[in-house]
Amino acid sequence: MSPETKPDFLISPEGLRVDGRRPDELRPVELKVGVLKQADGSASIRQGKTYIIAGVYGPRELHPRHLTMNDRAYLRVVYRMATFSVPDRKRPAPSRREKEISMVIANALMPALFLEEFPRAVVDVFIQVIQADGGTRCAAINAASLALADAGIPMRSLVPAVAVGKADGVLVVDLGDEEDKYGQGDVPMAIIPATEEITLLQQDGFFSREELMEAIQMGISSCKYLHELQKDALKKAYVKKGPDDEDDMDDDEFDDDLETDLGEADIMEDE
Ligand code: UDP
Repeated sequence: MSPETKPDFLISPEGLRVDGRRPDELRPVELKVGVLKQADGSASIRQGKTYIIAGVYGPRELHPRHLTMNDRAYLRVVYRMATFSVPDRKRPAPSRREKEISMVIANALMPALFLEEFPRAVVDVFIQVIQADGGTRCAAINAASLALADAGIPMRSLVPAVAVGKADGVLVVDLGDEEDKYGQGDVPMAIIPATEEITLLQQDGFFSREELMEAIQMGISSCKYLHELQKDALKKAYVKKGPDDEDDMDDDEFDDDLETDLGEADIMEDE
C-alpha cells in the first residue's frame, strides 16, 4: 500500500495545485480508439494516472429475457475496478459503489444514443478501471462514449465528462486523487457539447449557489475541450494516411462523415 498523507495545502501561495496545475487546467489526457480485438468497439483513456479501458458488445440478443424492452435497446453498463487499481486491494466482488457508478454512467450516456433503433436488444458496455487516481466515473464516460462510437452505435453526440471541485476554497477542474480525498467538494458532470445539455450532475460537499454555477460553467468549458480530444482520437483511428491508400480520407472529409453519423448536434456546433 502506498503511503498517503494529507498535503499541507491543496492550493499553493502562487495559486497552483498540488501537481502544479492551474485551477482550470486538466490533467494530461490520452484517448485511444480500437484498443481491444474482441470487442465490437473499444477505447482507453489515461487522465493523469487514472487509466481505464472500455469495451462495447452489441447490439445483440439480450439475456436474461425479462430485461427486454420492446421500444429500445437496453444499455447495460458494468463499471469495475481491478483489484490492483487502488492503494488497498479492491475486493473482487462487485461493490455497491461500482453498481451505483455503473447506473450513473448508463444514465449519462443514454440521452446521446438512438437506442430506439434496436428494440429488444442489448448494448453492453464493460468498463475496467486499471488504475484509479481520482475522477474515474468521468474518465469512464469519456472512454465509453468513444467505445460506443467505435462500435457504430448510432448517436447524436459523443459525451465528454469531467469533475469540478473545490480545494482550499478554490474551484478546480479535473480533480486528482488528493483533491478528491482532501478537497471540500466534487461535482462530476457530463454534457452533450452542442446543446450544453447536462446528462450527469452530482455534488458532494458544500458549494454556494454562485460557486455551483461557476463550477458548472468551468465543467462545460472543460467538457468542450475533452470533446475535441475525443473527436481527434476517432479521427486518428479512422483516417488512413498515405498516398497509396485507397481509403484515404482527409480531415475535412472525415469531419463531414462524423457530422453525418452523429447527426445535427455536431453540425450545429461546427457552424
Ligand atoms: N477509491 C479507492 N477504493 C475504492 C474506491 C475508490 O481507493 O474501492 C479511490 C480511488 O482512488 C478513486 C477515488 O477513491 O479514484 C475516488 O472515488 P469516487 O467514488 O469519488 O469516484 P471517482 O472520483 O473516481 O469518480
